[in-house]
Amino acid sequence: MGRARKKKKVLIKDIAYQRIQLLFSFAENEARQSNLEWSNRYAYLARKIGMKYRIRLPPELKRRICKQCNSYLLPGKTSRVRLKNNNVTVTCLNCGNQKRYPYKN
Ligand SMILES: [Zn+2]
Repeated sequence: MGRARKKKKVLIKDIAYQRIQLLFSFAENEARQSNLEWSNRYAYLARKIGMKYRIRLPPELKRRICKQCNSYLLPGKTSRVRLKNNNVTVTCLNCGNQKRYPYKN
C-alpha cells in the first residue's frame, strides 16, 4: 500500500510537470503575439505549480523568467540575449535586470 501511494505521488508530479511545460508554451505563444500580460500570467502560474509540487524547473525554463520582476522572457521580444566571452547575458527588457550564465555548445 505504501508503494502504491508513492507511485501516485510520482504521477501527480508528472502531471504537474507536464502542466508547467504547457504553461510555458502558452506563455511563449502569447509573448510572440505581444500579449505580455498573458505571457507573464502563464509564467507565474507555471512557477506557482513548480513551487506547490516542489518541482525544480529545468534551466532552460528557469531562464525564461526574470528573477527580479517575474516577466516571461522571450529572446528578441521581452529579453535581449548577448554572447560575450563564452557567456550568455540575458537582459530583461521590462526591468533591465541582467542574468549571466556560461554558454555551452
Ligand atoms: Zn525583469
